[in-house]
Parts: sequence; structure tokens; C-alpha cells
Amino acid sequence: MKMVVALLILVVSNNAFAWGHLKELKTPTAHQYLVFAALDWNEIRYCFEIDRSVRPLFDESSVSLQLESSFRAWLAPVRAQGLVGNVKFTRTACSDSRLNLRVEIGPERDYPALGAYHVERPGYSLIKLNTDFRRRNNSRILDFKSLMELGTSVQLVELLERLELSVGYSVQDFAEEARVDYVSMFWSTYRVLLHETGHAFGLCDTAKASVAQHCDPNFLTPVHEGSVMSDSNFLSLTQDDEAGILRLFRRFKR
Ligand SMILES: [Zn+2]
Repeated sequence: MKMVVALLILVVSNNAFAWGHLKELKTPTAHQYLVFAALDWNEIRYCFEIDRSVRPLFDESSVSLQLESSFRAWLAPVRAQGLVGNVKFTRTACSDSRLNLRVEIGPERDYPALGAYHVERPGYSLIKLNTDFRRRNNSRILDFKSLMELGTSVQLVELLERLELSVGYSVQDFAEEARVDYVSMFWSTYRVLLHETGHAFGLCDTAKASVAQHCDPNFLTPVHEGSVMSDSNFLSLTQDDEAGILRLFRRFKR
């Protein structure tokens, strides 16, 4: 089983770019991306909508910790270079007129996949964690899971702090260390939040199939490496992800 997964990832990696910026950053609604919230306001305002049917599996305080940790992971290299100061994370109501990011967790019929979307009016990023999301893997159906459901023995805060300080820590490494199933870990909250917040900041999917549609060719590396934004097989940023987010902040810093 593990072999098949590893092979699939190798195939993806060989066809992936390491980082790229979203084409939409050139459009008039670009100010909605988190790169601008961080640069212009030193604040990211976010809200949650967790469907009643999946509470307390996707417990708000746990997912909120994971989300803020993913913000910190993306901002760490940017702060280290002095491009932003301390960015404040404010959890607010979804009706907030200054909302930057909305996270919806629950069964979903309209958006069949997990993903990050751009809501032009009133203007914010949307991350949808579809709890109906299922991957067929041979005879098994794999449900989308909460990180906490997988690693109940793991101290979440400690784990997240460790991930924020790591570089290129892969899902396989974690699965082996925590003795959890690799595929379940892959389809779980933290890995997906880290990838989707990358989109919310302004980075594109760099798997080969997505590059032409979503990435700006002027802001795209030709290096073929695995990264959070290419094969998404990591729980911490890789050096390529760090290069991509740094380029993004340098590009828009006034
Ligand atoms: Zn993506």
C-alpha cells in the first residue's frame, strides 16, 4: 500500500513546479489576499462556520489553533527577513465587513473538492473543508478527518509548535513517528489548512496540471521539487515554499 502511494507522489513531484503566484494577483480584487492583510493591516481577520453535524469532531478551538499555526508557518520566513512585524490573528464574525478569510467545515454539495476559493463580493478568501470528501483507494473509502481524531495522544499545541519550526517535514515522517495511517493523515485538517492558506496568501497550485490555469508565468519557478504548494505532501514549509512566500511579500511590499 505504502509503495503505491510513494510512487504516485514521485510521479507528481517530477511534474511539479516548486512555487508560483496566483494569476488573480494582477486583478482589481487582489487586495483580498492575505499577503495584503498582513502587509497593509498587520492583521488577519478570520471566521469559522462549522456545520452542526460534524461537531465536536471538528472542534472549533482545535481547528482554530491549527489555522493560526498555518498562518504563523507561512509568516515565519517573512518575519525573519523583516518584511512584516507581528501580524495579529483576530477571530471574528463571518458578517464582519473587514473579514479576510472564512473557513467552512461540513458536508458540501456545491464544492465537490476541498479547496480555497476567492469570494469577490464582499471580498475575502474562503477555505472549504468538505467533510463529505472521500477518496476511493482500492476497496477502501477514506473520509476526510480531523487531525485530532488521528492523533489523540499527541499534544496539539506542542505538535504545531514543532511543525512551525521544521522545514520539509513530510506527511510520511509524521505518520511513521505518530504511528498513524499515512493516507488518513494526508486527508486531514492540518496538512490541508497549510496548503489552502498558501492559496489564501496568494500562491498557486504548482502541480503540472494546474500551473497553466492558475499560475502567473512571470512569478513561477521552473524547479521541479515537492513542496506544500506542489504535491502538498508536507506538514511544514519546504525551502521552495519559503522562497515563494518571500517573493510574494517582496513583490507587494511598498
Ligand atoms: Zn491547491
